[in-house]
Parts: sequence; C-alpha cells; structure tokens
Amino acid sequence: MIPYGKQDINQDDLDSVLEVLKSDFLTQGPQVPIFENNVSRFVGAKYGVAVNSATSALHIACLSLGFTKGDILWTSPNTFVASANCAMYCGGKVDLVDIDPDTLNMCPKALETKLILAKERGLLPKIVVPVHFAGQSCDMRKIHELSVQYDFKIIEDASHAIGSKYLNQYVGNCAYSDITVFSFHPVKIITTAEGGLATTNQSNLAERMNLFRTHGITKDKNLFDIQSEGPWYYEQHELGYNYRLTDLQAALGISQLKRIHRFIKKRHILREGYEKLIKSEDILLPKQDKNCYSALHLYPIQLRLEALTLSKKEIFESLRDQGLGVNLHYIPVHFHPYYKKLGFNRGDFPHAENYYKRAISIPMFPSMSNKDQEYVVSTLLKTIK
Ligand SMILES: *Cc1c(COP(=O)(O)O)cnc(C)c1O
Repeated sequence: MIPYGKQDINQDDLDSVLEVLKSDFLTQGPQVPIFENNVSRFVGAKYGVAVNSATSALHIACLSLGFTKGDILWTSPNTFVASANCAMYCGGKVDLVDIDPDTLNMCPKALETKLILAKERGLLPKIVVPVHFAGQSCDMRKIHELSVQYDFKIIEDASHAIGSKYLNQYVGNCAYSDITVFSFHPVKIITTAEGGLATTNQSNLAERMNLFRTHGITKDKNLFDIQSEGPWYYEQHELGYNYRLTDLQAALGISQLKRIHRFIKKRHILREGYEKLIKSEDILLPKQDKNCYSALHLYPIQLRLEALTLSKKEIFESLRDQGLGVNLHYIPVHFHPYYKKLGFNRGDFPHAENYYKRAISIPMFPSMSNKDQEYVVSTLLKTIK
C-alpha cells in the first residue's frame, strides 16, 4: 500500500532519540527549550511553546487569549475537528466560515459578510482560526485587517504549514496573528511522533501558554502570590493541564527540523510530477497561490464527477483495492453528529460541501519514489476511465 502521507526517519533521528534515552532527563530536560528555540527562530517568531499535540496547542492558545464560557470562535469547515474542538473545551461556541473554492481556505469575503451580520446581531467572534489547508496560507493580510476592524484575535492553525511561506515570510512569524499552531503528527511535514508547538511574539501569551501547559503551576518566584516558603515551593495559579512534550520527542523534532527544506523540496518535485503526468480534464489539481509557498502537506485532487460514470465512492474503493492509500481531507466539521447536534445543517457551507463530494487526497510524502508516483498516476487515470 502506498500511503497518502508518511514520516521520514533516518539514522540521525534514531541516534538523537537514543542519546536522550540514555541521559538523565526523559522529559522536562534540555531538549524541549532547544526545540522551541529552533522552531521559533526558523519561522521568525519571538516565542515558542512546545506541547504534546497541536490539539493541546490550540486549547492553551484559546485559554491564553482569555477565551471562555459563551465566547465564540470561528474556523473553516474544511479542517480537522481539532480546529473547532478547542472552543468547546473552553465552554465556548463554534461557528464556521465557508471556503473559497479556489484556495480551499477560509474565504475572506465570506468572513467579511458574516462579520457584518454578526455585528448587527451582537454575535461577533472573540477568536478566528484560519486553517492553512494542505500547507497553503490563508489570505492573512485581509483576515488581519478584519480583526482590527471587528476586534477579534487570530490563531493560525498551521498544522499543515511548517516551512510554508506567505508573502515571502515563514508561516508562524505571527505577522498577521496572535498565535500560530503547528502539528508534528507523523503524517505532517516534520514529526515528533505526537507533538505540537505554538509560536507568538507576545510575551504575556507565551507566559500564559507555559502556565496552562503544566497544570497552571509556576516556579518563577517573581510571580508568586506570597514570598517563597523554600526551595521546594511552587504555586498553582490556573487550572492547567499536563500537555508537556517529552525530551525524547523534542530530540526527534530537533533532528527532523534540520531536514525540513529537503522534505518540502521533495514534495514540490512530486507536485511537479503530478502536474506533468495527470493530463485529464476530469481531474482538478490543487492550485498554487502566487502569494504562497506551500509545504504541500496534502495533495488533494478533485474529480469532475458529472463527466465520470463511476461514483466517488467507487473510485475511492477501487484505488484502495489497487494499493493506493488514498484519503479524504476533510469531512466538513458541521457534518459530524457532535456538531450537527449543536444546530448545523447540511447545506450551510456549500463550497466546503461541494469540495468534500469531489475530493481525494493522493499520496504525497518525501520518501515517495518516481516509480510510486507513476503507479499512482497510471492507476488513477485507468480507474476513472
Ligand atoms: C493534524 C491537525 C490537527 C491536530 O494535530 P495533532 O497534533 O494531531 O493534535 C489540527 N488541525 C489540523 C488542520 C490538522 O491537520
């Protein structure tokens, strides 16, 4: 089976992890702060807070922005549910903004229209979470402009987009947002097995996220309510969580980050391969926005179903039967029973729904060979015929 995505682990990665295993610290040692520094320096942000998943990062990002009961968060329907769940963890509410069918990202025009309506009704969001789908940045300049006008905070869900660029700057430098969140799940661009990281340029947000990552506990005596009672002393100031990344994972991340350019370059070679080899009017390839350089986490094609005799389901099943680990990104958030129960309906976000009907993610990962790619393309073209 050729999977849709896969990690690339080499001897350096193994050695790095093994070294930590033999050391004194398996968690909360020196590797985590090094990883945080390396990632934040790489993307051009002042602070980085590493946690055990992007889901955790989204949660503490919301908490640090003071998002609480009754507050409203808006995100894209074309995302993994974690982008919306973070609001629910905080007792908040979720609403969605339909995508632009060209970029597959949150549509800035739809966002503006919805904001005008929400203002009239007193239902403005406290946080908007743009998701850089497949690695391609959202129109952050426009979204940031709207955030000033309508007074909301921005958390970029860049789970797909470490190493991506927007207007020639790395996603994650928070030029147009308060916080950016990355994921290091094995299918993403670089991996720590499980893991995530939030970047920000605001020291108070970094401090708050640090607190929420470890039980709400601080060991900084400058922050204590009372004078320290002794060397053992620490204080819990908030209800936080255990969202820490281990030193083992951080060591893997440090090693992986050294190869990020190689990984993304290879993904672009594969993209060029697909663009050259897939010559079919019945298959729409993902468009590359000229303002962006995508890390190409995913390669989602769309089928022109009205011209095909087989259904999407039949094509998908047939590809799987022939050894292609195709996948689908994403089932629209509001289609899930949990969100349906909150009042969403089919038909609410037609562009995301139409995309969902036609989309298939085909294999895209750094260790994929030319032969693999030729097999993927010939199987795909033969199957839809
Ligand atoms: C993978 C992913 C997440 C969650 O990442 P984890 O590290 O697995 O928690 C969140 N949002 C998007 C868009 C993702 O693709």
